[in-house]
Parts: sequence; structure tokens; C-alpha cells
Amino acid sequence: MKVLVVNCGSSSLKYQLIDSESEQALAVGLCERIGIDGRLNHTPAGGEKVVIDDPLPNHEVAIQSVLAALTDKQHGVISSLEEINAIGHRVVHGGEKFASSVVITDEVIKAIEECNDLAPLHNPANLIGINACRSIMPGVPMVAVFDTAFHQTMPKEAYLYGIPHEYYDNYKIRRYGFHGTSHSFVSKRAIDITGLEEKNSKVIVCHLGNGASITAVKNGESVDTSMGLTPLEGLIMGTRSGDLDPAILEFIAHKENKSIDDIMTILNKKSGVYGMSGVSSDFRDLEKASNEGNERAADAFRVFCYRVAKYIGSYVAAMNGVDAIAFTAGLGENDKNMRRNVCSYLGYLGIALDEEQNAIRGKETVISTKDSKVKVLVIPTNEELAIARETVALI
Ligand code: AMP
Repeated sequence: MKVLVVNCGSSSLKYQLIDSESEQALAVGLCERIGIDGRLNHTPAGGEKVVIDDPLPNHEVAIQSVLAALTDKQHGVISSLEEINAIGHRVVHGGEKFASSVVITDEVIKAIEECNDLAPLHNPANLIGINACRSIMPGVPMVAVFDTAFHQTMPKEAYLYGIPHEYYDNYKIRRYGFHGTSHSFVSKRAIDITGLEEKNSKVIVCHLGNGASITAVKNGESVDTSMGLTPLEGLIMGTRSGDLDPAILEFIAHKENKSIDDIMTILNKKSGVYGMSGVSSDFRDLEKASNEGNERAADAFRVFCYRVAKYIGSYVAAMNGVDAIAFTAGLGENDKNMRRNVCSYLGYLGIALDEEQNAIRGKETVISTKDSKVKVLVIPTNEELAIARETVALI
């Protein structure tokens, strides 16, 4: 079975065509600058990247271009669209309505629309992608896979905020959590690799990329996670602040005569290690700068690691123990210095890092020593494959 996985943003569209038997991507690509001018980057498996500069005035044209690239005589990977058996869509926010993936129907689209308020930058874009695919390929079954769904198992003590209950009643303000597809995929792999029994397992997944979140997974279910109502809460990220004293918002607004929108832009786009260092949101640039003596860059790196270690400690408390800790995503998979720094706080758990294993990149690796009390792992995430699996399972 061939599944097209679509991750649609407001001006971009990422895709992979995945063969569900081999679980390999036959082609991957990205439409950029949709609605501006447009560019399609398409890479067939084992082939060279092709850049197609045709205009992409809207998402329907972008999908048409993707389908044309997939069936192209030279760089295509299928001979006709009939070979696409299903489409899996990443949807960011499913609110409390969706605790698992669903086959897309008119009712499902309406229910996703009702979650737009909770993710105004993401859900409308996801819906545009869904509607574009439906109009171009009306007969092909489609599935929505939600970033929030995996976290719907969290208990009340983890998802309620300390604010008047009416805000939960009226607007459903609560912790939802994100990166659920990745946390689910990686925690399952961690359980398999370490030979744990799912029904008796305690795993902490650190998804550390440009966006970063951490999840406590007990007996295969998410019981707490660091992102909240929105992806701004929790860890320090590339450009996002993560947790802070909410009174800081008022303080800056008064001092600098700024609106709430200005402040939200600062917290989402100008904070994190980027704002702290004044250098970059990319940890490779931070490392270079701190090696050259830039103290702010060195501080940003240390504060980031310290926050990750504090969250791990709080989730050990939440689960009354931990069997395995897994690092994933761009930074989690690649930055051995970050992993070493985080683990340096965790000696009290009986964790010991194997430096040689910690230096390995790009593949599933146990990076703790044989006698470490808690296993520490690097597990490359694969959200597209997880979406393809969910899609196949549902149709
Ligand atoms: P993601 O959002 O998962 O694509 O992760 C992107 C982030 O991963 C980048 O901004 C970097 O901070 C980090 N990253 C990627 N590769 C490396 C690397 N080789 N060393 C350190 N950090 C990396």
C-alpha cells in the first residue's frame, strides 16, 4: 500500500510517499512560499533533489504540483495517481475531541474547525491541505493524525492549570501537549529496544528540536508533558521562551509600552536560546560561538540543559521512577555535548553515560553503560512513518 503523508503549513507543504510494506519513503519533498511565488523541492529515494520553480498561488496548485512530481516520467516514483491508496494528514490540534487518529469525514472536518481557536496558526493551514486533497482526489481515503491525541490520557492533575475553573469550562483552557506522534513512536521503540513490558514501563521522551518538549510515558500512555495549551510552554527552545513567570509579560508591556501581541511575538520568535545568546537558534552556531568565548552562547546552552534535567527530575517524581530516557529530534539525535550535560545532573538515578556510544549519530543507540540503572537511548524519530502506519491501520 502507498500512503501520501501531508504536513501542511500556512505557506508550506511537506510530503512523503511511503510504501507501507517496506516502510520506506519512495519520495520526500517540500513546497515552499505557497501564495507568494512558489518552489517545489522533490527528492525521489536514491535520486537527486529536483527544484521546480513553477508558481504556487495556492495549496490546491501545490498539491497538483506534488502529484505531477510523483508521477513525472523522469523524477517520479509511481506511474499513475491510482497507486496512491490513502493520504495521512498531520493535524496539530485535536482539542479534547480526538484522542486518536480518525478517518476524515465531513463531521471530522467540522470538529477540526472547532479546534481552530486553540491553534490559529496551524489548524486552518492543516484544513486547507485536507480540503485541497479532497477536491483533487475525492475517492482516496484520508486520515487525520493529531499532535495532541497521544496526550489525551493525561490525568487531571497534569492537565489542569491553577486558574479559575470557568476558563476550562468556557474555553477548554488546559494542557494539551504536542509532538504526540513523535513521543508515541519513540516511547514504543524505547520499550522494544530495552525489552521492557509496555504494561509495566516508565519512559521519558525528550523531543529536542527547534521546538522541544518532554513527555512522561507510563505503561505506554502519556501521563504528563511539558508543552501546554500552546507549544510555548515548557523547555527553552530555539526561539521560544518556555516556562516563565507570567508577571514578566506585564512588566515588559509597561516598561516598553508594548501590546500583548508584541509580547507574544517576543516570547515565540525572539526568545529561547536565540534571544538569550543573541547568536542563533541553532545549537551548532551556539557551540561555535561559545568555543570562541561568547559567554551568552555558553549560558544559553547551559540553561537549556538545566531545564531539560529539571523536567526529567519532575517526571521521575510523577511516575515514581523511570526505566528509560530517550533523546530524539534534530538536537536530541545529534548533539552529544547536550546529552552529556543533561545526564551530568542525573547521577542520583544511577545513570552512567557510555562516551563512545554517545558519540554515535543517526541511528538507534543505547548510550548508557551496561550497568547504568536507567537506560538512556538515542532514537531517531519518524513522524511521517508513524502517520503512515496510523493511516494504514485505520483504512
Ligand atoms: P528539528 O526541529 O528536529 O529539525 O531540529 C533542528 C535543530 O536541531 C537545529 O536548530 C539545531 O539546533 C539542532 N541540530 C541539528 N543538527 C545538529 C547537530 N549536528 N549538532 C547540534 N545540533 C543540531
